[in-house]
Amino acid sequence: MTIASVGELFDLSGRTALVTGASSGLGWRFAEVLAANGANVGIAARRTDRLETLKSEIEARGGHALPVPLDVTDIDTIAPAFDAVEKAFGPVDILVNNAGVAAEGFIADMNPADWRKVLDTNLDGVFLVGQEAARRMTAVGKGGSIVNIASAIAFKVSKTLGAYAAAKAGVVQLTKVMALELADANIRVNAICPGYIETEINSDYFATEGGKKMIQRYVPMKRLGDIKELDGTLLLLASDAGSFITGTPILVDGGIAL
Ligand code: NAD
Repeated sequence: MTIASVGELFDLSGRTALVTGASSGLGWRFAEVLAANGANVGIAARRTDRLETLKSEIEARGGHALPVPLDVTDIDTIAPAFDAVEKAFGPVDILVNNAGVAAEGFIADMNPADWRKVLDTNLDGVFLVGQEAARRMTAVGKGGSIVNIASAIAFKVSKTLGAYAAAKAGVVQLTKVMALELADANIRVNAICPGYIETEINSDYFATEGGKKMIQRYVPMKRLGDIKELDGTLLLLASDAGSFITGTPILVDGGIAL
């Protein structure tokens, strides 16, 4: 039996990917990583102006990307985003459901509108975009990979993050149900559950004394994750290297959830 090289095992040449919330942070990185490994990538977000910069960066490395407007809370924007990506690159084989928001507040004080926004984006958004992908992948009949971005907080909660924790735990369960329902169609559905990963959004906080103390106290590896430390897990789940993995939440968290 032949043995694939690492490059062959994780190769995404000829695949079409769609990444939601690609205009910053992890989504930006996921799009770059998928493109660098051969996929043509639909980069989706509400802020399409920022996506032009990402497209240029991907193309400068020889990759291909198409910016598309998408608000995961607005069902009317979802099918048009898939249509545009399909028209440019062919049917979507890989979906990364990355868009997310956070809102802090003790449950007793939480404004129901904040609760709704977090659940709408982080859970309903994963359902709506995942449903569209599942329907289209099933119709094409070639299988596919859906990677939902959950969080370590799906497993280990902390005060003031009730809405976020509930939504991300919901994403993990939704991942498992979708995996079960779509296994026959060879559509794999998995979740990445990051711990604290440094992005432009949180780097100021983690540089404060409070932020540094929090890392020392709560992260067994006593450091933040670097954004590139999610690359391997993403490629494993997106590519044929993970062809028998489905319904699995993978923690990439320096041990926080232990
Ligand atoms: P981020 O704020 O940089 O990225 C979130 C992206 O989602 C942004 O580009 C935002 O514009 C987009 N978005 C928000 N609402 C949207 C909507 N309605 N439609 C389309 N796009 C929308 O933060 P990030 O850290 O890169 O987060 C990416 C994902 O990773 C999120 O799901 C987040 O919950 C998850 N996560 C992040 C960390 C971390 O430490 N950074 C840890 C665990 C999980």
